Amino acid sequence: MKGFDLHEPTTVSQAVGLLGQLGPGAKVLGGGSDLVGGMMKDWVQGKGLPLPSSLVDVTTIPEMQGIKSSGSGITIGATTTLTDIVESEDIRKTIPLLSSAAATIASPLIRNFGTLGGNINQRPRCWFFRGENFACYKKGGDFCFAVTGENTYHAIIGGELCYIVHPSDTATALLALNAVAKVAGPSGTRDVPFDSYFVGPREDVLRENVLKPNELMVEVSVPTPAAGTRMAWTKLKDRQVYDFAVVSVAVAFVADGSGKWTDGRVVLGGVSPVPYRAKVVEDALRGQDIKVAAKAAAGQIRTVARPMSLNAYKVDIAQNLVERTLLEALG
Ligand SMILES: Cc1cc2nc3c(=O)[nH]c(=O)nc-3n(C[C@H](O)[C@H](O)[C@H](O)COP(=O)(O)OP(=O)(O)OC[C@H]3O[C@@H](n4cnc5c(N)ncnc54)[C@H](O)[C@@H]3O)c2cc1C
Repeated sequence: MKGFDLHEPTTVSQAVGLLGQLGPGAKVLGGGSDLVGGMMKDWVQGKGLPLPSSLVDVTTIPEMQGIKSSGSGITIGATTTLTDIVESEDIRKTIPLLSSAAATIASPLIRNFGTLGGNINQRPRCWFFRGENFACYKKGGDFCFAVTGENTYHAIIGGELCYIVHPSDTATALLALNAVAKVAGPSGTRDVPFDSYFVGPREDVLRENVLKPNELMVEVSVPTPAAGTRMAWTKLKDRQVYDFAVVSVAVAFVADGSGKWTDGRVVLGGVSPVPYRAKVVEDALRGQDIKVAAKAAAGQIRTVARPMSLNAYKVDIAQNLVERTLLEALG
């Protein structure tokens, strides 16, 4: 693989300074399971995607590590490992949806060194993006090979121009939990709600989130859910061993005493270039008896789905998983 310089800052401002100084060839390094083990070793590159020449390791920054709990919510440093998230009692008690989602990611070994920031900001797994012979839009090329090619696992919703699906399970769960990312850049830090953190291909086909090359994710905060919030996570994979989601569903909602939906979120992974908030389903549930309305509400997915030649099966799976996950959360 191509050689690179490794930098080990100990503060966020040092890391941001290095990213600015080293320029677009510098990348933020978490556990490296995707950036080094995937993207760099596989030489994923193009005219809009140079191979990294420098890595800025953020796991050496103490302020980006660990899980903090307070009355208002839970804050998770971006270099916290997925294993630490799965094993956190605070997370299991307050936002079990995140524990469940994190536990379905990859293998125990990868969870031991894969970080939250790396998981949320990992690049897509599309085989055309990762394959060296395809100069696709995401690498600065001028075509999406999924349109005429093998698109079994590609987007069924919101895929314009490029039809990747967002790969991160924690991102799907955190959007359902109304999380907020703290982003650091040259002019300080800013809070970005997950509702506006992810960027679709029409907005910018070269990236999947709002981060600029000289910015990094410092931490993620999840507000304490309202009393009585019900949550559930379902992920369908092609294989029983570790794998990415064909479709995943995260729900977090509040129901009144008679089981009627008052407020909440339904988010799908594996279906769209960004974690997809299914407002069509939420709207259909508003004020309704969830047990009665779940099936028809889940059917609303059909009104937004635009499957490609080989992936219409995902629409059926998405509809069924949304219904099943809503009912599971109800108990
Ligand atoms: C075999 C296998 C199976 C997998 N299965 C799943 C799965 O089922 N579900 C799932 O969600 N994931 C899955 N993954 C992905 C895996 O979870 C990620 O590789 C891992 O979480 C990335 O974490 P990392 O710390 O190693 O990231 P890195 O490889 O270090 O970084 C990944 C990307 O994020 C960027 N980045 C890292 N930290 C930050 C930060 N703080 N701020 C800004 N950018 C940052 C890097 O620049 C890079 O682009 C799988 C991976 C493998 C190899």
